[in-house]
Amino acid sequence: MNYKVAVIPGDGIGPEIITEARKVLDKIGEKYGHTFEYQELLMGGCSIDAYGEPLTDETLEKARASDSVLLGAVGGDVGKSGWYELPPDKRPEAGLLKIRKGLGLYANIRPAVLFDELSGACPLKEDITNGGFDFVVMRELTGGLYFGERKTIEENGIMKAIDTLTYDENEIRRIARWGFDVAMKRNKKVCSVDKANVLDSSRLWRKVVKEVSEEYPEVELSDMLVDNCAMQIVRDPKQFDVILTENMFGDILSDEASMVTGSIGMLSSASLGATKLGLYEPSHGSAPDIAGQDKANPLATILSAAMMLRYSFDLEKEADAIEDAVKQVLKEGYRTGDIMDNGKTLVGTKQMGDLVAAHIK
Ligand code: NAD
Repeated sequence: MNYKVAVIPGDGIGPEIITEARKVLDKIGEKYGHTFEYQELLMGGCSIDAYGEPLTDETLEKARASDSVLLGAVGGDVGKSGWYELPPDKRPEAGLLKIRKGLGLYANIRPAVLFDELSGACPLKEDITNGGFDFVVMRELTGGLYFGERKTIEENGIMKAIDTLTYDENEIRRIARWGFDVAMKRNKKVCSVDKANVLDSSRLWRKVVKEVSEEYPEVELSDMLVDNCAMQIVRDPKQFDVILTENMFGDILSDEASMVTGSIGMLSSASLGATKLGLYEPSHGSAPDIAGQDKANPLATILSAAMMLRYSFDLEKEADAIEDAVKQVLKEGYRTGDIMDNGKTLVGTKQMGDLVAAHIK
């Protein structure tokens, strides 16, 4: 098959890590008989320099016309770069909001994978993490408290702030379907997280998720209150496969889940919408402190490319091949600086990409 991939290297380490992800995708293409046709697009600081805005409408159109989008990272050193003297809607990160909105992305997946080989970086006790863990947090991205009506008023001389948390059943249903679809590609378990003992929106969430689960008889559904979930992620992360939750709970839980895996250079992510077109990117930023020095860990971006194969292109075997290659390279002791440990072999960005590509089976 031929796939059209819009590639947005962005700023800082973005171009370096994207180059390595392309290297690995090309190796997959060669081995499995696919072609990836890349179209490089500008977003972030580099687009501000070229066009005066972080994402032009023309660029967004090109991204929309692709089969999927692979993004490096955008932004510069906030203290040094002139980009941050611009109004907020003209700064590099405004491009991120515009592309997510423009592509209609409402589901975010952040995997929390502890590779056995990197368990030393995990802040949890060894008896909890033995054997590693592997779950994803699926977060609703466009509804809930962050998008509800808000205001600050003064009543009888007292300041009062009001935020509203709203979900309708359609918003819940569409993210729930993604949650179950993703579980079908994994270990077929969904844990739906809410605060149904207090919130009406959570009670509706629970009801709709239960209805959707009936379309997926193979997937085991459980419900958990968000406070308990926050505890369970550090007490027993192995119990989870897909954590499905609303926007604010997902914001908090996905950061907690990332933290327990240890290294920022390993964290991939995907944002999905109504179609197969998704946006795949590492969870980290553009790391201007190490840009251009061949020090960045490209694995989060390479693992994001694997997610793109799995979720946008339904190429399961090929996605597995990338993840297995990453595991094998780690097993053989190769590390970039951010995950370096005693007795391991330090490699740069390019060599890490070469190694993963060479291990694709
Ligand atoms: P950051 O994630 O870029 O860096 C934090 C620290 O982690 C730095 O020390 C960096 O060197 C290190 N790091 C990050 N990724 C790494 C990798 N792949 N390999 C090795 N080390 C890595 O966060 P920051 O410093 O707060 O932000 C820098 C810029 O990135 C800012 O302009 C910020 O707005 C932007 N940003 C962009 C995104 C995005 O594009 N999605 C996300 C977060 C931050």
